Amino acid sequence: MMNGEEKWVVGIDIGGTAIKLAFIRPQGEMIYKWEIETNHLNHGEEIPNCIAKEIEKKRLELGLIKGKILAVGAGAPGSVDVVTGIVNEAINLRWSHRYPLQQKLEDACQLPVVIDNDANCAALGEMWQGAGISSRNLVFVTIGTGIGSGIIINGHIVHGAGGAAGEIGHVTVIPVGGALCNCGKMGCLETVASATGIVRQATALVSEASASDDGLSTLYKQNGVFSARDIFELAKTGDYKANTVVQTSLSHLGIALANVANTLNPETIVIGGGVSRAGDFLLSQLNLIFHQHAFQSVKETTVLTLASKGNDAGVLGAAWLAKQQYM
Ligand SMILES: [Zn+2]
Repeated sequence: MMNGEEKWVVGIDIGGTAIKLAFIRPQGEMIYKWEIETNHLNHGEEIPNCIAKEIEKKRLELGLIKGKILAVGAGAPGSVDVVTGIVNEAINLRWSHRYPLQQKLEDACQLPVVIDNDANCAALGEMWQGAGISSRNLVFVTIGTGIGSGIIINGHIVHGAGGAAGEIGHVTVIPVGGALCNCGKMGCLETVASATGIVRQATALVSEASASDDGLSTLYKQNGVFSARDIFELAKTGDYKANTVVQTSLSHLGIALANVANTLNPETIVIGGGVSRAGDFLLSQLNLIFHQHAFQSVKETTVLTLASKGNDAGVLGAAWLAKQQYM
């Protein structure tokens, strides 16, 4: 290959059900993206080989010479020790305790690899190409089944002493009598403001013994179940019970985000994940609560915004890491 010819990096987002991959140019343009099902065989031990085979298959398909791909960046769910390249814990990938992901991927792909936590990668993706573009200080919060987050200060991810910085989903918001969280604590933000938490509160509300024909109760009687999206849709129509649930959730979320902003004063707090699809309805109500609890100069300089890269943020951020480290 001629010196100076452009090289690409691979961005990978490893999830419990799917693995997303993309070939990405140094400027951040995605050349090709695709996804495969996560292979859980052999305690997740096949994952690095599956990824290596996919990269090689796509390279040949696109007729690229071997040296075209410079490095691989990968995001994994769970706590990641970026210094040793070890995933401490990734329950939904079935990896054993302290899984040496970086080494395994390097051996399988025969390429240099850098890894980080998936929410951290999504934060970097939004900073590089998304809603946080040009922000040097950014907090990304993803609200789906759980609540994850990534904190970037001066352009760098904050990892903390044990790789657990940014666990905003597990700040305590209900100190007494809160629901049990997946992490083992009670009353975490995740128990009230994640999609799961929103559904749990709504279910409790309609299960209370009282004959009622409001929208939320009716929906529950019809289907026996509802999603966070259903609840937001009903709240938009003015349904009283749906609004009660949404208000409770957003109130806890807004206060938690104001506390984060009062601590870090980032330029941008980017809200992503499935719940963020509630869009401007969510953002405008969240802003009201956020502004009530943010310190005056924080209010003037920290902006809440919706994520713009969706499911691509993770692969973009992982690719950014590979580019920063190896290009
Ligand atoms: Zn928790």
